[in-house]
Amino acid sequence: MADIWSEALHSLQPRLGAQTFDMWLRPIALQEIRGRSLHLHAPNRFMKEWFENHYLSVVLDEIKRMTHSDYTAEIEVQEQAAANTPRRAPTEPVAAVEVPAQPAPQPTKPPVSTLRPRLSARYRFDNYIKGTSNELAASAAWAAAQEPGKRFNPLFIYGGVGLGKTHLLHAVGRHIAEHRPELRICYLSAEQFMNEFISAVRCNQFDAFRSRYRHDLDVLLIDDIQFIAGRDRTMDEFFHVFNALYEAGKQIVVTADRVPADMKGMEERLTSRLNWGLVADIQAPDLETRAAILRQKADHDQIRIDNRVLLHIASLVRSNVRELEGALLRVTAFAELRGVRITEGFVSEVLGGVTPSQATAPVTIERVQKLVASHFSVKIADLKGPRRHRSISRPRMIAMYLSRELTGASFPEIGQRFGGKDHSTVINACKRITSMQASEPDMRNTVSSLREQLTGPLLN
Ligand code: ADP
Ligand code: MG
Repeated sequence: MADIWSEALHSLQPRLGAQTFDMWLRPIALQEIRGRSLHLHAPNRFMKEWFENHYLSVVLDEIKRMTHSDYTAEIEVQEQAAANTPRRAPTEPVAAVEVPAQPAPQPTKPPVSTLRPRLSARYRFDNYIKGTSNELAASAAWAAAQEPGKRFNPLFIYGGVGLGKTHLLHAVGRHIAEHRPELRICYLSAEQFMNEFISAVRCNQFDAFRSRYRHDLDVLLIDDIQFIAGRDRTMDEFFHVFNALYEAGKQIVVTADRVPADMKGMEERLTSRLNWGLVADIQAPDLETRAAILRQKADHDQIRIDNRVLLHIASLVRSNVRELEGALLRVTAFAELRGVRITEGFVSEVLGGVTPSQATAPVTIERVQKLVASHFSVKIADLKGPRRHRSISRPRMIAMYLSRELTGASFPEIGQRFGGKDHSTVINACKRITSMQASEPDMRNTVSSLREQLTGPLLN
């Protein structure tokens, strides 16, 4: 009759998904069935509790559905069950019975996320250029680095790709490491956190994982937290880590590519905690900041290039700092290969023939739609379509607003170009974006950065 267990699992597998199934159900082994009671073995306490809290009722329901009877279950922890290495090799002499009853502790590996290998010397506060686009985030990071755990805890930094989030996070870590060597710092990406968590559970080292992250740390720096959205077990574990550290007054700094509320699949209780401290944004840098970043980079790499030319590069490459650095690299590499001096004309030629005149080409509704769609990662068809979800309707309203402001097209004409919508829809969109800009700094920044990308910065 052992088969009711395997049959129940078999029918649950497609519903739970292979990953969940392999991770949480497969390690639980049926020992015997006595009457209506299942005796199960779990490889460790953590797996037992997790299974009990999350999956036991699902399995029992399934058994009930199959047998029309109520079963109960008892789960016993059998540490050895999951250990791949048997306590005693079959050929070992009897004297080896003295081997401890518990598996021998693994040689203590250095925590996977020790500080040194992970913090880059390139990312420091002294080479982080501040501008209006990143001022709040940079100042808050500095304050957190000066007085870990005292102010701005947690600190949540968000912004688009290549805008300097990782740079700031490393800078915080390095600064603390230099000035407070007694503090234990851990920097890692959310993806690494997830991988370590999974492997700790798999290798039966969850206790070590738990104490490493919940107790043996003074500063936790987590990059790209959006990665764990929708990964329930990792979110749950991170939630406990967060609570333990927060309650102990330890500094937590988290980065993401968007605000907590916009992370699809992120647990509510986690987003609310991420909002407890300071939430600071990094926007695309303005022309001046871009030029300053280039100047610093050129000086650091001992590239001889004059400010006018740097300003020209900065005026052509607006999306993010990483691309800006890439552009400088490309220009200097080409100049070296050809053995020529870097001039504005040369820059225009190398950077794909983008010229300032193109940057200030007339704004059309089509250009607005293209830019807004790519900025928010939505389809142009969705901007023109009927969907009302906030993730679409906001970009759509912004695109309508910018079309009105920058192209001079009439409301009915704009409605027409957004999939034949009524002119009143366009008027409402413009009114809402106007009022949102007045009350939400984020909206104001987004609109002005998009506007700048469409009209080009004022060059003189
Ligand atoms: P993100 O993590 O936001 O994607 P990164 O921190 O990796 O971005 O930054 C991309 C590159 O741009 C890095 O080389 C970083 O040093 C550089 N960078 C970003 N912002 C600045 C800044 N304000 N000053 C100097 N360098 C910057
Ligand atoms: Mg990054």
